[in-house]
Amino acid sequence: MSVDTVSLTGWGRTAPTTALRFRPRTYEEAAATVRGCGPRGSIARGLGGSHGDAAQNAGGSVLDMTALDRIRTVDATAGLVVCDAGVGLHRLAEVLRPLGWSVPTPSPNRYVTVGGAIGVDAHGHDQHHSGSFSRHVQELELLTADGEIHTVRPGTVLFHATAGGLGLTGVILSATLRCHRVTGSWLSVDTERAVDLDDLMDRLSAGDHRYRYSAARIDLLARGRATGRGVLTRAEPVPRDGRAPRYARPAPARRTPFAFRPGRLPSLSALVPHSLPGGVCAALLGELRYRGAPGYRPGELQRPAAFFRFLDGPARDRPRGRGGSVRYQFAVGFGQEEALRRIVRRISLRRCPSSYAVLKRFGASDPGWLSFPVPGWTLALDLPAALPGLARFLDSLDEEVAAAGGRVCLAKDSRLRPELLAAMYPKLDEFRSLRAELDPYGAFRSDLSRRLSL
Ligand SMILES: Cc1cc2nc3c(=O)[nH]c(=O)nc-3n(C[C@H](O)[C@H](O)[C@H](O)COP(=O)(O)OP(=O)(O)OC[C@H]3O[C@@H](n4cnc5c(N)ncnc54)[C@H](O)[C@@H]3O)c2cc1C
Repeated sequence: MSVDTVSLTGWGRTAPTTALRFRPRTYEEAAATVRGCGPRGSIARGLGGSHGDAAQNAGGSVLDMTALDRIRTVDATAGLVVCDAGVGLHRLAEVLRPLGWSVPTPSPNRYVTVGGAIGVDAHGHDQHHSGSFSRHVQELELLTADGEIHTVRPGTVLFHATAGGLGLTGVILSATLRCHRVTGSWLSVDTERAVDLDDLMDRLSAGDHRYRYSAARIDLLARGRATGRGVLTRAEPVPRDGRAPRYARPAPARRTPFAFRPGRLPSLSALVPHSLPGGVCAALLGELRYRGAPGYRPGELQRPAAFFRFLDGPARDRPRGRGGSVRYQFAVGFGQEEALRRIVRRISLRRCPSSYAVLKRFGASDPGWLSFPVPGWTLALDLPAALPGLARFLDSLDEEVAAAGGRVCLAKDSRLRPELLAAMYPKLDEFRSLRAELDPYGAFRSDLSRRLSL
């Protein structure tokens, strides 16, 4: 097992902290590290894809799980995979696709391990259709603070605390996942432009149930009557036999029905000179994205990589520039549309230079106690951390979100004030009691757990 002292950040590259990093290669090494962790405790870390400080532990230890990356068995008939928690979803997809299966919640998979996806209960652009990641976990092996390994199944208290539990109940060593059948490697994509926020929300509400994947890029710099305008892209997998009349399938689609070619596609941001000030750059990108999209184009065949690139765009690159970036994602329930409108108006009036802003509708939530999705609306945006007055502005948005019964996403967070947490996550007390019982001496800790007293 390698051990070194490193300075770590989350994906947003803000607030680095130093920790002793252990990289176990066996479950025994992982257990020895947990048993021997000092008073500052330890926390599991995958690929560091969470934006904030969930996988950091200042002055303590961090268990880098990426060397535990064996895919143990694949049942290609039932679509069941047993693998180590350090396996990247991207690698899993490479193995599963040719067999006709896809990983659950496929969108952010390049930067996510199985353990990390369970630890934050990741949601994809198909959450309204397929739920979040934990819905597809049949069982997992959890290394707890006493150094023991437990098999944990859905429907149990330990499962509910661990799915979305940010690594604070223990270290996930392996998981059995139920995968989706894939019918081919192409998506039929419908694109439409919405002139303002109400138009965008109406379109999302009216049609989401017809699509597996759905999300809208929203132009948060548009103002006046155009406030909240956006481009909506929704997609359905194309059936392999191609009998559906809408799809004119090109020859490569017939030759390579299960190809997995994520590739590295150029992003729109490459067209905008980086010497421009952040606000101008973001405004230009918003304009290009909006004007460049068709008013209405149904049934376009796209590779999944191209579809997800439009939705996730430049944010998939590491944040550039001084100070890193802050991801802010919140959700408010159905019936709280006015709160969403107010927040979008406030962001737009403040001219926040957000290079990434995506609006989605969540469907039914999963039972993880700290799992983020609730049925309703979610907006995610990236902001430069160095933006003057950002902390105060986001604090005030937090208050608005909490007052509307909503919540911010803890996996993306690096700045929420602890006093708002209980209002956002009603199962917080259960989570804290279970932790107190399971881990009385605080073997599992992170910068986030200290900041929010989890
Ligand atoms: C470009 C980009 C797009 C993204 N889009 C989305 C999105 O659409 N939806 C979404 O939900 N998320 C999204 N994310 C966030 C990402 O899904 C999560 O942060 C995920 O946890 C990252 O996985 P990781 O393996 O890197 O975990 P890390 O970031 O290393 O850790 C995240 C949390 O999981 C815990 N953890 C990690 N491994 C284990 C383990 N083995 N056992 C126990 N706990 C563990 C850590 O302690 C930490 O609390 C995105 C991230 C990026 C970079």
